[in-house]
Amino acid sequence: MPLIDTHAHLFDERFGNELPTVLERASAAGVERVICIGIDRESSLQTVEIAKKYPLVVAAVGIQPNHAAEAKPGDWDEIVRLAESEPRVVAIGETGLDRYWDRSPFDLQEDYFARHMELSRRLNKPFVIHCREAEADVVKALRMQQKQGQLRAVMHSFTGDIATAQECLEMGLYISFAGMVTYPKAQDLREVAKIVPLDRLLVETDCPYLAPQPVRGKRNEPASVVHTAAQLAEVKGVSIAELEEHTTRNAKALFGV
Ligand SMILES: [Zn+2]
Repeated sequence: MPLIDTHAHLFDERFGNELPTVLERASAAGVERVICIGIDRESSLQTVEIAKKYPLVVAAVGIQPNHAAEAKPGDWDEIVRLAESEPRVVAIGETGLDRYWDRSPFDLQEDYFARHMELSRRLNKPFVIHCREAEADVVKALRMQQKQGQLRAVMHSFTGDIATAQECLEMGLYISFAGMVTYPKAQDLREVAKIVPLDRLLVETDCPYLAPQPVRGKRNEPASVVHTAAQLAEVKGVSIAELEEHTTRNAKALFGV
């Protein structure tokens, strides 16, 4: 069964000029699609270029909360332009809220989060949520947005608790797990994964970060999503094939790929 890596930062300098071999390894590992996610204007432009060059890749464009403070006038307009005009752009983000790094004033993060959600709604493309130590704030913002209609989004690299996961599921969101769920000490996170229904579960690498256990400490890449999928299959008590079938179907439904 094929897999979809729903969150990768292929523009990262750590991939250098190795992208062709990185993507070959992904295909060989059974990855049929990689969603490359921008974090600011420059990387969103790069993400679109990568998606145009490699058929395996599609793009999401946005300004990640930690990069909101450094965004210059016109950067947001460029994100909007890419989202409106580039057919390879399938989603908006990543966006969200982050109290851990504290790199952007929180009210500015909230402003950008709302803009991304409104753009998502206007263009009928899903949005990708980054949430770090800001679960209550994210849920509150989502509840506000939900008043406009059904949300179409994913909580990426989920690290919240069961209560947060339940609130997100109740709002119709998908929940995606990255390599962290494979770490020996991440028993709490595996308990969260256990309650996420198979029809709401996604897998991702968040590469080049968060390499799963067997390749931990190395530069992560889309091919390694297989390790996270195998761990989730174990947690959910299903075969790897079944896990892949569900997560791939979910990714296709959410991103329309
Ligand atoms: Zn990311």
